[in-house]
Amino acid sequence: MRGLMQERPLLVSGLIAYAEQYHSDTEIVSRLSDRSVHRSNWREIGVRSRRLANALARLGLRQGDRVATLAWNSFRHLELYFGVAGSGGVLHTVNPRLFPEQIEYIIAHAESGHVFFDLTFAALVEKLAPLLPSVRGWVALCDAEGLAGLNIPNLLCYETLLAAETDAFDWPVFDERDACALCYTSGTTGHPKGVLYSHRSQVLHAMATCSLDALAVSSRDSILLVVPLFHANAWGVPFAAAMSGAKLVLPGSLLDGESIYHLLRDERCNFSMGVPTVWLGFFDYIERNRATLDLSALKLERVAVGGSAAPRAIIEKFQTLLGTFLIHAWGMTETSPLGAVGNPLPKHRDLPAAAMFDLQTKQGRPIYGAELRILGADGTVQPHDGVAVGDLQIRGNWIVSAYFKADGPATDADGWFTTGDVAKIDPDGYVQLTDRSKDVIKSGGEWISSIDVENIAVGHPDVQEAAVIGVYHPKWQERPLLLIHRKPGRDPSKADIIGFLEGKIAKWWTPDDVVFVESLPHTATGKLLKIALRETYRDHLTGAG
Ligand code: ADP
Repeated sequence: MRGLMQERPLLVSGLIAYAEQYHSDTEIVSRLSDRSVHRSNWREIGVRSRRLANALARLGLRQGDRVATLAWNSFRHLELYFGVAGSGGVLHTVNPRLFPEQIEYIIAHAESGHVFFDLTFAALVEKLAPLLPSVRGWVALCDAEGLAGLNIPNLLCYETLLAAETDAFDWPVFDERDACALCYTSGTTGHPKGVLYSHRSQVLHAMATCSLDALAVSSRDSILLVVPLFHANAWGVPFAAAMSGAKLVLPGSLLDGESIYHLLRDERCNFSMGVPTVWLGFFDYIERNRATLDLSALKLERVAVGGSAAPRAIIEKFQTLLGTFLIHAWGMTETSPLGAVGNPLPKHRDLPAAAMFDLQTKQGRPIYGAELRILGADGTVQPHDGVAVGDLQIRGNWIVSAYFKADGPATDADGWFTTGDVAKIDPDGYVQLTDRSKDVIKSGGEWISSIDVENIAVGHPDVQEAAVIGVYHPKWQERPLLLIHRKPGRDPSKADIIGFLEGKIAKWWTPDDVVFVESLPHTATGKLLKIALRETYRDHLTGAG
């Protein structure tokens, strides 16, 4: 027997409609690239999203069409989140930190017909435009004066487009399973893969994000959104903020310790989220200026950290210097991204500080809507005993089922998605990542493909075999180290090898050091034994190894 309740589709437009009506005066604050601060609110974001929807219709946007962005966190990018998805389009947020060939591939693969870009990316867009004839319009996120000097075909101006429209627009109603956003992940080798979110998955993820045992986003929050809008939908926080009417503070491109400190203080932010590297820079600023800073001016109650493992030193500093609780979270672009969130349970209430810090170093426990399990080397499900280690798998309401335009599913027959992370899970469900089976390095929250660098390095005439591994780095968490097994009788220098890579890889992918070895370890099937190498060279860059 079917239930007899209404089935209103879960649509992203419902989030902005709610925020506009019931939290209209709650501020949306943006730091622009000239360091000035722009103030908007949910009413204006709602109104301008509807103007944008009218402009998109005039540009010919149809249901399911992709609209790309190359932009930092700002009110205009937030309007695109709601204006594009709300009117039935698919917002394709491109990571501008990827190198131009990847960006070109991604925009072509997504078939994004319009690209909205910040002026800081004008030079990049000038290079891309001739290579992407499928893009019908390049829309600069500025007013008409900002267009001066740009040499881009089919150039449009965001503010001019909006000024030509009225606020009158009825958000269309359609199937909640339709796509609303597209993010490419470059976590593994080969071309980046598209994760296509649905309205339903985003709204359910936002609801979960707002729950107390997840990130507890509410109208009481002033949130500094450090995580970029182009990283897995800024961890879904824009949608959760609209659903709950939270204040959002958008830092633009200025993510240095001082800029973050000032925004947290001036906007009285009680919540923030970002990758560990950003917080390392933040504490570096605090420590260098400790004598002159009044830390009691910060009202930061909690901070969510993920993307890479939150170092224990950061967990401790947040607590002892600022009284801020660090919520360690785990997720992926493929998981919207929240999978596990590190809140304590009632039984942990009276834990001594050191034991609480231990708990916080774990990556958190599953929230409702996401199931986690680990598989042993023989493919059997392992117990959650805090000892057994295995490949981490996930399934749930906001987990990828297939990549965009891929031939097959991304999961097994039972819907389990293999994450490429290796973990143990304790009896309370807390996940602890112990390694990565995917062959990649994560430096400052961005991926470096080990295999791509290895393939180029073995092209050097003196190189027999090459291995690239991620080793510990105090600022970037991980940096690539290149191990070279030379051909017999050959003796290249480090500079020869690094020089050979130059121009063939992005500059920030360049290994921090080159080590010459007599041989490289292999598995029984002939693959490089990276686990052993990571163990041996873990502290190579800090001088301890
Ligand atoms: P995001 O954009 O959220 O960083 P990605 O898809 O680029 O998502 O990266 C996901 C991967 O990042 C995970 O599979 C894992 O390897 C790593 N990761 C995410 N969160 C953590 C964490 N808390 N600790 C360690 N590694 C993490």
